[in-house]
Amino acid sequence: MSICQDKEAIDVMVEEAKSYTQYGKVADYIPALKVADPDMLSLAIYENDETCVTAGNTEETFTLQSISKVITLALALMDRGEEEVFSRVGMEPTGDPFNSIIKLETHSPSKPLNPMINAGALAVTSMIYGSSIDEKLGRLLTFIHEITGNSSIRYDDTVARSEYETANLNRSLCYYMKQHNVIDDNVEHLLELYTKQCAIEVSCKDLAKIGYVIANEGKHVQSQRPIIPLHIARILKTFMVTCGMYNASGEFAIRVGIPAKSGVSGGIMASVPYGVGIGIYGPALDDKGNSMAGMKLLESLSQRFDLSIF
Ligand code: GLU
Repeated sequence: MSICQDKEAIDVMVEEAKSYTQYGKVADYIPALKVADPDMLSLAIYENDETCVTAGNTEETFTLQSISKVITLALALMDRGEEEVFSRVGMEPTGDPFNSIIKLETHSPSKPLNPMINAGALAVTSMIYGSSIDEKLGRLLTFIHEITGNSSIRYDDTVARSEYETANLNRSLCYYMKQHNVIDDNVEHLLELYTKQCAIEVSCKDLAKIGYVIANEGKHVQSQRPIIPLHIARILKTFMVTCGMYNASGEFAIRVGIPAKSGVSGGIMASVPYGVGIGIYGPALDDKGNSMAGMKLLESLSQRFDLSIF
């Protein structure tokens, strides 16, 4: 039976996973994220065509946070090509927290190890083409509108400002990279763009569609028109497997086995090659920054529908 025909089982899984929200905590290092409801859990799934299963309150919107790193990587690769992008950011997992500076200092050359940690994502964002912050952000939003078919997607200014005003760790990563010629941008401009990118607001359905396009070799949900080149969709999925779930990516690969990326707002986007996109929102996080109930829900879905790619 396909996933979309088993709505009853999915509702039960969502209810069961919901009980895990009590063990997590909403992110508070970005002040505006503190207001999220920790009991929330919602899910959307796209399978094969436009079929969609939803459970929980899927109208609720939340900010992409680190999930944006997958999308900016796609855009930077389309803008600059693999050679240039990977001359400034590596391809290896770190095993460190997402905002750690340690590997920048201990590795030579001093480039970020991968595009899914903050240092790497900042370097990737600096490679998006455009002559101003507005133009770069506009291109990113247009790209997201195209992938999701939802042209009402915007960024949340309150969350963006809240992060910008408190992003001293990310500032320090930028200055470190500027000193070592990984980036040459004005740091405040780069942080403004990065915090706006992280504050782009989506629903679970939008996430499921983005996950579906990446799963489906970069082709659009309905028209099957290519939006992301095949080789880039493959690179995205590979990074999602090796470093998409912070420093829990290894355990997640064993327990769930689906390419996925999470963000500190509580979103998780998952892409099962070749035909399933999953979007989850559950803001109560575990100590690594992953949605507590979202991880449980993905584990149940993977087991029930045999979704592991391994
Ligand atoms: N905007 C967040 C930061 O840079 C993203 C972190 C995340 O979701 O992992 O700290």
